[in-house]
Amino acid sequence: MMVVMKEDATKKEIDHVIEKLEGAGLRAHISKGEFKTVIGVIGDREKIQNLPMEVVPGVESVIPIQKPYKFVSREFRHEDTVIDVGGRKVGGDYFAVMAGPCSVETQEQMSEAAEGVDKEGAAFLRGGAFKPRTSPYSFQGLGEEGLKMLAKAKEETGLPIVTEVLDVRDMDVVAEYADILQIGTRNMQNYILLLEAGRTGKPVILKRGFGSTVDELLMSAEYIVKGGSSQIILCERGIRTFEPSARTTLDLTAVPILKNLTHLPVIVDPSHATGKAGLVTPMSLGALAVGADGILVEVHPNPEEALCDGPQSLDIASFGALMEKIRPIAATLGKKIS
Ligand code: PEP
Ligand code: MN
Repeated sequence: MMVVMKEDATKKEIDHVIEKLEGAGLRAHISKGEFKTVIGVIGDREKIQNLPMEVVPGVESVIPIQKPYKFVSREFRHEDTVIDVGGRKVGGDYFAVMAGPCSVETQEQMSEAAEGVDKEGAAFLRGGAFKPRTSPYSFQGLGEEGLKMLAKAKEETGLPIVTEVLDVRDMDVVAEYADILQIGTRNMQNYILLLEAGRTGKPVILKRGFGSTVDELLMSAEYIVKGGSSQIILCERGIRTFEPSARTTLDLTAVPILKNLTHLPVIVDPSHATGKAGLVTPMSLGALAVGADGILVEVHPNPEEALCDGPQSLDIASFGALMEKIRPIAATLGKKIS
């Protein structure tokens, strides 16, 4: 249930509502909007239904929520959430392009990638310092040394950093360098990691598990809110189906479905979804066309030499060509490039 307070509700009235809910053994989650305060109620369904909140002073309306997730639902917040990272926006009317290599390899590689994607119009720089590799014998990333390289590339270009956190033990160090924390597909249901990512208060990109449903993705996002951050960007990155011709099947249907169910921005990762550089451009344009709020694309200055995911990485020139195709389509759809 959500308790919507009147526009002119006083602090005393809001506190009284919270006291009443807590007195009934329920928990209150406060969301202060520009005009109204909305109080989400968590707890036993029966207890919630028995509370006559409509008659409490300052309360405008009470809205029941049928879905298993609450705070990320459109019912809780009607307007799109727009996440502002140092003036670069994700959500609403914006299309955010996040680009960079799969993993941070050397300072030269990172600086060259950052300069290239910045010049071609990316708004964010991606790069993994902690890598979740399927094989434990593959390159695992440079760790904090890699984060420092990202920081230098940010200093050189001004591009905010998107980087993955794999483990709660690394949360503080990753959060120190990251402008947006990324939770990968394999960790979508690592609930402790989600709570800890929320605790940092940083924006979080939550990738859909390749074997997870849309509802499960939203429940995971709810954990991040529970942890303490509601700045969440959902990312469709392909799911496993019987079809082997691409790495996974990019579920573009999930984009408009999610945009209906949640106020959170939804982006698409065409690189990990397809595993093939040649499919990245068509699927990026598809993502834009179906209403995604951005893309997360792997770009490497020299894909042939990449230590990780070379076959799906665009070089700088192909990324530039992709941006050229994105601009007129975004303009037609009324989306501004972040
Ligand atoms: C990544 O973006 O670096 C990554 C590993 O993606 P995913 O978690 O979607 O496989
Ligand atoms: Mn990768």
